[in-house]
Amino acid sequence: MLTILDVVRRSTGFFEKCGVPQPRLDAEWIIAHSLNLARMDLYLQFERTLEEAQLAPIRKLVKRRGAREPLQHLIGFVDFAGLRITCDKRALIPRPETEEFIEILNGEFAAKPPLRILDLGTGSGVLALAFAKIFPSAQVVATDISSDALELAQENAAIHKLSDKVSFRLGNWFESLPKNESAFDLIVSNPPYLSHQEWECTQPEVRAHDPKLALVSENEGFDHLFDILTAAKQHLCPGGLLAMETGELHHELLIERAQEAGLSNARGMKDLSKRPRFFLAARPLE
Ligand code: GLN
Repeated sequence: MLTILDVVRRSTGFFEKCGVPQPRLDAEWIIAHSLNLARMDLYLQFERTLEEAQLAPIRKLVKRRGAREPLQHLIGFVDFAGLRITCDKRALIPRPETEEFIEILNGEFAAKPPLRILDLGTGSGVLALAFAKIFPSAQVVATDISSDALELAQENAAIHKLSDKVSFRLGNWFESLPKNESAFDLIVSNPPYLSHQEWECTQPEVRAHDPKLALVSENEGFDHLFDILTAAKQHLCPGGLLAMETGELHHELLIERAQEAGLSNARGMKDLSKRPRFFLAARPLE
């Protein structure tokens, strides 16, 4: 008879051979999920023996993870900024850097919370929902060009009872919004910014399972960043902030272009591993 600990160890060993980046952690998540336990509860039950009926579903998931299906698709969620976000093929799996992005913006608005927020390319809805929770008096608009992604984002909003705080609109970037509305205190986006070449070098979990549409942009990853930057001013209220996640090599040119787009105080910010990954610029007060 195999104990939980035996299964954790065997699965970890198998994942190591398959090149899974966090073998032990993923083994624990999959086993806990299959047994309907919280991951930490496994530690209290390591000596518990498992029946064949319990082992069969674990084996299936371990095999799929070994073939490099993302953990978040197998267990169906990711825990993000205090929200359990449902994940599947319809949208990008939220990344840990995006949690840092939220922290930074939370700091920027410490004195005066934003009342109207726009999330461009909402995907799973993660940024829109996190901000709706952090800033309870804000109304959030979230757009996406993919109707699949919007469907997932709406499901996530319903799960977290935030559907009345966030309105979802189908369309490319600002397309679904009235022009010159100048309404938003904060425009956020984690747009596609990888070059084709960078995308080719991503892990199999990313390349084969995240929508390519959510990751890749033409012109060395610049195209979508420029599109958003160029149109941001007419949708920001005076003093409003545009904040985007970017690649590491994008800031210099974005800072130049921000000026041309009528934005001020353009600056890059680094993530916790000191990589320049966040770009901020404001509409001047006038
Ligand atoms: N806004 C979503 C996220 O940050 C989706 C981003 C995307 O699809 N590029 O996860």
